[in-house]
Amino acid sequence: MGRDEAIEAIKRVVGPKGYIEAEADMKPYTEGWIVTHKGRSPLVVRPAGTEEVAAVVKICADAKLPITPQGGHTGLCGGATPTGGILLSLNRMNRIREIDPVNYTMTVDAGCVLEELQKAADAADRYFPLSLAAEGSCTIGGNLSTNAGGTNTLRYGNARDLCFGIEVVLPDGTVWDGLKRLRKDNTGYDLRGMFMGAEGTLGIITGAVLKLYPKPRQIAATWLAVPGAAAALELLSRARAASGDSVETFEFIPREAVEMYLRHIPQAADPLATKYPFYVLMEIATFAAEGVDVTALTEALLEKAAEDGLVTDATIAQSEAQRDKLWHIRESLPEASRREGRAVHLDMAVPIAKLPDFYARAPQIAEKICPGARAWGFGHFGDGNLHYAVRPPAGMAHPDFMEKHGKPMEYAMLDLVAELKGSFSAEHGIGFEKLADMTRYKAPVELRLMKSLKASLDPDGIMNPGKVLG
Ligand code: FAD
Ligand code: ZN
Repeated sequence: MGRDEAIEAIKRVVGPKGYIEAEADMKPYTEGWIVTHKGRSPLVVRPAGTEEVAAVVKICADAKLPITPQGGHTGLCGGATPTGGILLSLNRMNRIREIDPVNYTMTVDAGCVLEELQKAADAADRYFPLSLAAEGSCTIGGNLSTNAGGTNTLRYGNARDLCFGIEVVLPDGTVWDGLKRLRKDNTGYDLRGMFMGAEGTLGIITGAVLKLYPKPRQIAATWLAVPGAAAALELLSRARAASGDSVETFEFIPREAVEMYLRHIPQAADPLATKYPFYVLMEIATFAAEGVDVTALTEALLEKAAEDGLVTDATIAQSEAQRDKLWHIRESLPEASRREGRAVHLDMAVPIAKLPDFYARAPQIAEKICPGARAWGFGHFGDGNLHYAVRPPAGMAHPDFMEKHGKPMEYAMLDLVAELKGSFSAEHGIGFEKLADMTRYKAPVELRLMKSLKASLDPDGIMNPGKVLG
């Protein structure tokens, strides 16, 4: 079957509601949240269910027509940017198939928006913890395919840890029903695990069984000023021990990030009257309604930390509205950062104990490459993962900075990450943005294993070509 014939056959399978071919209407699917992510596709396909996905993939397999799967299109590495083949969006597949409160699981279509899943779990008196600033748009299929992290990974793990089973359409159109709800199943290789973080290069996730928790009954949200990364690290250790390992969030936010927030985001407000060099947004939460008072526990922890010089100021949210205000700062940072202008952006992780080392050395390295460059990062301190950026010195245009210093700066930072045994991409994935980093920083044996897996599942290379492995 030729390419044009295949496209006509796909249209017949999904019907008029299931595809878009006018170029203007395709824009939300071909242009990403990052303005430089612009793709092209002859057809956006929006199947209504797993069987339609399978029929479409079968046609593509016969015609060797490439497919780029897409969920909410919020990915930050260009994984969902189409490169000339069809764009297969899961956004019509947004049904919650079943919530099983006794088994603490929820079975869902892959196109469900994360926030809708959080709400559905809540309505069933359960908790689906995965949480990130894009939760109003990103989908669970995208979350699993990028193995998303977010703001409470330190307690619940990342997307892969919150999934018991998946349903996948393989590159030849076969449906694998792996929707297991089991907590124990040692029957050979971890097939589900292959698709976590695969970014649509091995198949299309169409459904998932997700892990639920009891609903947290008490939450203490605190905005703290700390003298530096080493103090934050010690505070985190103490908070974990004092709370029976109930630290839900531990986000590191330097003053520069707050200034950026105040500059770019309407209704932005500084939570503390005095300015400090570093802050932490910490939440401690318990599943128990009684027996422990998390606010009292947090106060006692902070009092001792203040005596020991680890905390210089703090405010504990007294209401849900105050808690929302603290979260507004953290959740607005990606948007504020986008408005700030182009920069060298890293999504790096190091073992947590190495964070103070990284935070001290990275600006010194940046200064050597471009004197006056502004280097700092914010984010998921509790996971050793910071969204670190290097921006031009005052007075230098962003494009000039990127042209002259972009690549050397990025590699100097990532070499430091590698020296500290870290990761060059902690939670955002590879897409097409980080292909060069894969060859530079990933062990040859790992690349070889990944390539052989790809070749065995997708010998014709139709699933999301140009991503992850190139
Ligand atoms: P898309 O962008 O549509 O796709 C991402 C990748 O997955 C692509 O390679 C695509 O081909 C593939 N894919 C999508 N759906 C499927 C499917 N059903 N089957 C197979 N492959 C599929 N990420 C974090 O981890 N933590 C954060 O804290 C975080 N914060 C963010 C904040 C903002 C403001 C934004 C814009 C993004 C943020 N991200 C974060 C990145 C992004 O939200 C996540 O990567 C998210 O998991 C992507 O989901 P999506 O549905 O939008 O996927
Ligand atoms: Zn993040």
